[in-house]
Amino acid sequence: MRRINPGSVNSYIRYGNIKIPKSIQSECPECRKTTEFLLNANFQSSKNGLVTETSCPTCKKSAVFIIMTKDTIDEQGEHADTYIYDIQAAKHPIHQIESLPNIPKDLIRAYRSAINVHQSRGNSATAVMSKRVIESILKHFLKEKSKGQPLSQQLEILPNHVDLAKPIQALSHLLAVDGTLHRMLELETEMDYETTSLLMELLESIIEYLFVLPGKIEVTHNKISKKFN
Ligand SMILES: [Zn+2]
Repeated sequence: MRRINPGSVNSYIRYGNIKIPKSIQSECPECRKTTEFLLNANFQSSKNGLVTETSCPTCKKSAVFIIMTKDTIDEQGEHADTYIYDIQAAKHPIHQIESLPNIPKDLIRAYRSAINVHQSRGNSATAVMSKRVIESILKHFLKEKSKGQPLSQQLEILPNHVDLAKPIQALSHLLAVDGTLHRMLELETEMDYETTSLLMELLESIIEYLFVLPGKIEVTHNKISKKFN
């Protein structure tokens, strides 16, 4: 489920005392193209909301929209909160890593097994698979240097073998003074909707990289330390 940003709703129709989206600009859960979905009025309604399907104009596959009619959350209290069913958006890392290039297949397999055995409460199996995931990550980056070294030692030297600064430094040219994006940010050139969506995606990634992920690692680290003390 992915929430539709109210800014992505192109038009509304009235439904009782609220307004529900008629046309939505969204990324298609199937072909991943950003396109305009026209919601048909053939709703299945329940106590809390409406469900409707419509096909993607690009790939013709069906997309499901869920419109919450019970709790409206915008200031005017009249626009219904709307979601699109998008399995990829269920932000589980396993869905994200599978769509990324350069991730070792054995790492994906080990991680998927770790998730499965953990869900079925196999504690020893989870321990075994988790160790395999950590080993696989370290081996991927350290290659020969991982051989015969304890995991702690390998983790210690890992940052020397991963360029953690590169994703951020690689962005700097985007903001060059004479660059297109910089001119758009200074409102010298107009930005189209697709570019603004990519920009929002970029903001989310930068914040995640610099604040969310280090924070999450620290919080989990503290929880584990506390449990062992
Ligand atoms: Zn599509």
